[in-house]
Amino acid sequence: MNKIVIIDEELCIGCGACVSLCPKKILYIDKKSGKCKVTDESRCDRLRGCVKICPVDALKII
Ligand code: SF4
Ligand code: SF4
Repeated sequence: MNKIVIIDEELCIGCGACVSLCPKKILYIDKKSGKCKVTDESRCDRLRGCVKICPVDALKII
């Protein structure tokens, strides 16, 4: 499966803003790492709400 949601875990501060915003509920904060991760990215709407809300530009939609 092709990647759609790219998360830069070095940049992510685990704020959860993208998780709350995502209408498809495919983003979550991994408890172990404290970083954002994606579940079923094939459901991504590619509207980039997460990209716009992320304070550290850690997300990319391709
Ligand atoms: S582009 Fe939209 S659906 Fe896809 S991960 Fe971001 S907020 Fe969720
Ligand atoms: S909005 Fe950005 S910094 Fe916050 S959890 Fe999502 S990817 Fe990480």
